[in-house]
Amino acid sequence: MTRLIEPQPGILDITLYQSGTSHVAGVENVIKLSSNENPFGAPESAKAAFAKAAHTLHRYPNTDHFSLRKAIGDVHGLDPERIICGVGSDEVITFLCQAYAGVGDEVIYTEHGFSMYKISALAAGATPVCVAERERVVDVDAILAACNEITKLVFIANPANPTGTMIGQRDIARLAANLPSQTILVLDGAYAEFVEGFDGGAALVESRDNVVMTRTFSKIYGLGGVRIGWGYGPKDIIDVLNRVRGPFNLSEPQLAAAEAAVKDRDWVEKCRDDNTRLRAWLAEALMELGVPSDTSCANFILARFLDQAEAEACDDFLKQNGIIVRRVAGYGLPNCLRITVGDEASCRRVAHVIGQFREQKK
Ligand SMILES: *Cc1c(COP(=O)(O)O)cnc(C)c1O
Repeated sequence: MTRLIEPQPGILDITLYQSGTSHVAGVENVIKLSSNENPFGAPESAKAAFAKAAHTLHRYPNTDHFSLRKAIGDVHGLDPERIICGVGSDEVITFLCQAYAGVGDEVIYTEHGFSMYKISALAAGATPVCVAERERVVDVDAILAACNEITKLVFIANPANPTGTMIGQRDIARLAANLPSQTILVLDGAYAEFVEGFDGGAALVESRDNVVMTRTFSKIYGLGGVRIGWGYGPKDIIDVLNRVRGPFNLSEPQLAAAEAAVKDRDWVEKCRDDNTRLRAWLAEALMELGVPSDTSCANFILARFLDQAEAEACDDFLKQNGIIVRRVAGYGLPNCLRITVGDEASCRRVAHVIGQFREQKK
């Protein structure tokens, strides 16, 4: 008999997510600047809470995540009833696609947008639609022009990854106000904490009924390995997402670590300040070496080289010297390398090695 087993439409169009590498053959003590991780790790408060949760590993976790949602709500001034927690913000993105987009629907993401938007749209059977950016900045007018009666979701990261650029609140509000009536705007605030005074779009979620914000514990909180994130949206949308969420999607150590971390405001402030200072230093140092970058609002810099060949040669040279950064050709940026802002020693080291690279080319 002929075997007729086939996956759902769209699944085979998914290109597997490329994560930042962490090893170089033959090199020890590599400096990993490829995944926008916090160079200082997780706060002590979160590590202690995680360790303490080890005493109850035999117990099923709590299913409503109330304690964490309340802590997030208190810190950010948000209604806990409208918060949903997921296995990274990736899972919240997956829920949104699963619940709101299917075969025959379109999901918009932008030219250099985060790859999970396209992956999740395809996994849901929907058609991902890529909209051009303008000089590595999200273009609201181009997005509005691409919307139609089958557009269900629009994904924007602000600040964006891998460009590090941001668009203003007025543009975001204009986008939300002019979307078709069946479309949800998703504001991915994975890097929001790195922008002092920025609410990630929370106020816009409050004032409208078609905006959802996603946030993560993977970046400034240094909990990428724990996998936890959250979303904030209109009550009816959060209720829908909770229906597709597995009741035990998060374990107790995850929940405990995240709750301790979000309450640790000194830690967030310290990491933000260090990042701002070191990011400015790194951008300036690379600029002086003839490697420009757009002003970054996140914890990485998108370094621009002359062409793809130079970017790849520099990446190889960095690797040989034990430094791992991220190639971003897959994001339509073949002449660029994304470099995470590490601690001070790592920033100095990466600038020094890029200087050597430029020097040996002369
Ligand atoms: C890192 C990142 C996330 C976070 O994903 P998690 O699943 O929460 O680790 C989300 N969006 C963007 C744009 C990111 O760069």
